[in-house]
Amino acid sequence: MPKNILSIGLEEDPQFGDVDPVYVNMDRLIPPNHSCLLQFVEYDLSKAEKPLIEYLSCIDSGKEPRKQLLLTAISELQQMHPYFLICRENAAFLLNCIFAGYITRHCSDMDELEQKNLFMKLCVSDYSIFTDPDNIFDNKIDSGEDHILDYLYNLQYDIRLWVMLTLDDTNPELARLDRQRRSVLYSHVAMKNEYNPVFSIEVEFSTSMPKKLKAKSAEWDFNEDLYDQLYKDLNVLMWDPEANLPKSLTDLIKLTKGNEDCDVITYQIRDFTCLLEYEIHRMVLDGIHVKRCRNCHRYFIPERSNIEYCSRVAPNSNGKLCSEIGRFRVYGKKARESDPAYAMFNRAYRARLEKIRRGTMTREFYDKWRPIAEQKLEEVRQGKMDLDAFDEWLKM
Ligand SMILES: [Zn+2]
Repeated sequence: MPKNILSIGLEEDPQFGDVDPVYVNMDRLIPPNHSCLLQFVEYDLSKAEKPLIEYLSCIDSGKEPRKQLLLTAISELQQMHPYFLICRENAAFLLNCIFAGYITRHCSDMDELEQKNLFMKLCVSDYSIFTDPDNIFDNKIDSGEDHILDYLYNLQYDIRLWVMLTLDDTNPELARLDRQRRSVLYSHVAMKNEYNPVFSIEVEFSTSMPKKLKAKSAEWDFNEDLYDQLYKDLNVLMWDPEANLPKSLTDLIKLTKGNEDCDVITYQIRDFTCLLEYEIHRMVLDGIHVKRCRNCHRYFIPERSNIEYCSRVAPNSNGKLCSEIGRFRVYGKKARESDPAYAMFNRAYRARLEKIRRGTMTREFYDKWRPIAEQKLEEVRQGKMDLDAFDEWLKM
C-alpha cells in the first residue's frame, strides 16, 4: 500500500524562520471512522464566532482588543477540526482572510488601501506568517449579513447537504437508492447538472528512498565520479539490455533490499473546503454510509445496515452507551407487542411518571402503587386476573 500524505499548508520554523510545507499522514485528518468530518458537520460554530464578534467590536469602538478572545477563537477552530490544529497557520490565515472581508464590508468608506491595511494590522493575529501581507485583501473571505463566520456556516451547510443526499441512510427511502442515483441527485441539487467539477485536487506520485539507500546516498552526495560511472554503465545497458548488470548498479540494488513500501501519494490540500470535499468524495466511492443515532442524533458509521444506535456514551445517561439504551428500547417494544398486559402496565406507569414530573402526583404515591401494579401484571400473565379488569384497575 502506498503511503498517503496530505500537504495541508505552510508553517514557519520558530528557530530559523524558514517557511516550509506541513505534511501529515492522511489517517490523522481522514481517519477510517471519518470522525473529523462528522464532527465538523455537527459542530456548533457559534462557539468560535462569539469571541470574534467581541474582538471585532472592541476594535470598532476603538478599544484595545483582547488577544485572549482571538486565542479562544483559534482554539475553537482547532477543536472543530484537526486541520487547524496540526497546522496552526491555517487557523490564523483563515481568520485574517475573514477579517479582511469584515473590514471591506464594514468600512466601505475606507477607500485607501493604506487605511485598510492599518485596520488590518489591528485585527490580525501575531501567529500568522501572513500577518502583514500585501495581498491579504485579495484573499478576503466575504463576511455575511448574519455571521462573521459565514464561510464556515455555508461550508457546513453544503457538506451536510452532500452527506445527507449521498451517504446518510437515516431516511429509509434515500437509503434504498444506489450510490450512482444518489450522486446524480446531489449533482443536480448542487450544480444543476451543468458540467462543473465537484472539486479538483492536485496529486503527486513519488517513490521515496528506503532507509539504507538514504544513508548511503548522503555519503555519496559529493562523489561525482561514482555517479558518472553509474550513468555510463546505464547507458551501455540501455543499448545492450541482455548484458550482465554493471557493478555500479548491483551495488545500488543491494541497498534497496527490504520490504519498505516507498511509494508515496501526496495530495495538495489547498484549503479546508478542499479537504472536506476530497474526504466525502472518497467516502462516496468507498461506499461508506452514515446514520444519525436514534438516541443522541449524532452521525456514526453503522457496521451493519440494521444498526440504529451509535456506541458512544449517551448524553445524561451516567455512562450508558447509546447502543445499550437502544437494545433496551428494542426489547421494550418487542415486549409490548407480544404482551398486551405489559403494554397496559407500561402506559400506566409512564402516565404516572409524567404526573410526578408535572407535580400532580407524589413520588410516595407512585412508589406504593408500582409493586401492587407489578403483582397484578403477574396475575394477569398467569391467568388469575382478567385483562379488562386489569385495564380498569390501572385507570383508577
Ligand atoms: Zn448515539
